[in-house]
Amino acid sequence: MKPNGTDRHRVVVVGGGFGGLYATRALARRREPLDITLVDRRNHHLFQPLLYQVATGLLPAGQIAPPLRHVVRKRKNVRVELAEVTGFDLERRVVHANVFGLKTLDIPYDSLIVAAGVNQSYFGHDEFAVYAPGMKTIDDAHELRRRIFGAFEVAEMTSDPVEKERWLTVAIVGAGPTGVELAGQVRDLACRSLRGEFRTFQPSSARVIVLDGGKEPLATFGDQLSGKARKELERLGVELKMGTRVVGVDAKGVDIVDSTGAASRLDAYITLWAAGVEASPLAKELANACGVEVDRAGRIPVQADSTLPGHPEVFVVGDMMTLNNLPGVAEVAMQGGLHAANTIVRRLKGEPSVEFKYRDLGSAAAVGRFRAIVSVRRVHLSGFPGWVVWAFVHLAFLTGFGNRMTTILKWTRSNVGRGRPEREFSVRHTGGDLSTPTAVRSIIQPKPLPLLDEFTATEADEPPAATSPN
Ligand SMILES: Cc1cc2nc3c(=O)[nH]c(=O)nc-3n(C[C@H](O)[C@H](O)[C@H](O)COP(=O)(O)OP(=O)(O)OC[C@H]3O[C@@H](n4cnc5c(N)ncnc54)[C@H](O)[C@@H]3O)c2cc1C
Repeated sequence: MKPNGTDRHRVVVVGGGFGGLYATRALARRREPLDITLVDRRNHHLFQPLLYQVATGLLPAGQIAPPLRHVVRKRKNVRVELAEVTGFDLERRVVHANVFGLKTLDIPYDSLIVAAGVNQSYFGHDEFAVYAPGMKTIDDAHELRRRIFGAFEVAEMTSDPVEKERWLTVAIVGAGPTGVELAGQVRDLACRSLRGEFRTFQPSSARVIVLDGGKEPLATFGDQLSGKARKELERLGVELKMGTRVVGVDAKGVDIVDSTGAASRLDAYITLWAAGVEASPLAKELANACGVEVDRAGRIPVQADSTLPGHPEVFVVGDMMTLNNLPGVAEVAMQGGLHAANTIVRRLKGEPSVEFKYRDLGSAAAVGRFRAIVSVRRVHLSGFPGWVVWAFVHLAFLTGFGNRMTTILKWTRSNVGRGRPEREFSVRHTGGDLSTPTAVRSIIQPKPLPLLDEFTATEADEPPAATSPN
């Protein structure tokens, strides 16, 4: 009998992203006596691959971010805690968490699955984050949306042609899938969606410049496909500056060094960061606790069955772990989550653990309207056939039938027509749950939730001030 007075096996899952949510759902479906606690610092599961469509006004945020409570509402053995995990006591088998700074939680477990993902990395230059937001959270996407559509508004008001051009120059750092997809969408919205809406310039004059140290965009797809992606980007009018290192970022542009070592300056009032990730600090915390070293990206090496050395009851899955050079993609996280769930059930039945074997189902990236590249083992697709596969895969993994249906409608509206309805933005900084490094966030985030102190101490308690009839 456990301290909680039952014989039910307690599983704590940290992170409701691809790894954690797939593990939770797989466990919740089982007949074995399992109680699952899913802890996340956000109230939603986030379908990160479509974040760029929220940033560019194509999809509303809620469509790619279903609330975790809603997703697991029918599974009575799942409890969702909205809290930030701060540490672990692996000996006592307890997870420490903090609820909005209001209270702390100690959550006991028999098995633990940690899937806290990665954060944006600025390669030691966190100060860039103020000027070049990344794209990891819903608030990041809103902040990017504010900057992109805001730049067109400011350009409309500016009479100085040089300033106008700078407002209409978007620098994107990183030519991986995120940078390329974002670049394609920004050109598409400038050339099609915003056509005819401005009086002092042609939106299609907006420049989108992608900067990357590598030779080709989307290099992980191989020479043939990345060559096709390059051609498609050039057709869209995206300027590629490959072999370029970004060495400085400020409010008015970026400092770059090319492959010959020559330094130059690119004037761009909008810079977006789509390069580099580092594992959640929880990876380091776990590594210290079990005596292993994290790799350069801060990821923790795991055993062949995805558990920690000396702690077979602790699984680490998804982007924050490293095993056999697996890539940081959603499929690895989902399969890792399922593997952890299945292993817990196997052990309950008295069966041994098995190795985590990843089945590579390929990768896909959209390069523009009705254009994508897809690589599934030896099958390579591009253009419209690639886009059909890309669309099918993304719809299949988007959580919620309703979200899938509305996404199809929105895609039809914006791809067949030129509608891009989700363009509202806050003129102030969104200031919310940004993925910027903590030090930077504390400068730009006015107040984290909740605002209880000021409210109770001032407005709520004080009598209203007397007002003069005049
Ligand atoms: C913009 C973008 C585009 C992408 N496009 C693709 C793509 O096209 N195809 C593809 O395969 N992959 C893509 N990826 C990668 C893919 O999203 C990740 O590989 C996947 O999300 C990893 O899943 P995960 O469960 O490890 O982490 P995540 O999905 O990031 O989930 C981590 C969860 O942990 C929570 N969390 C973190 N720290 C704490 C804490 N201390 N306490 C409580 N909760 C915490 C977070 O809130 C989050 O919900 C993309 C990623 C990004 C950012």
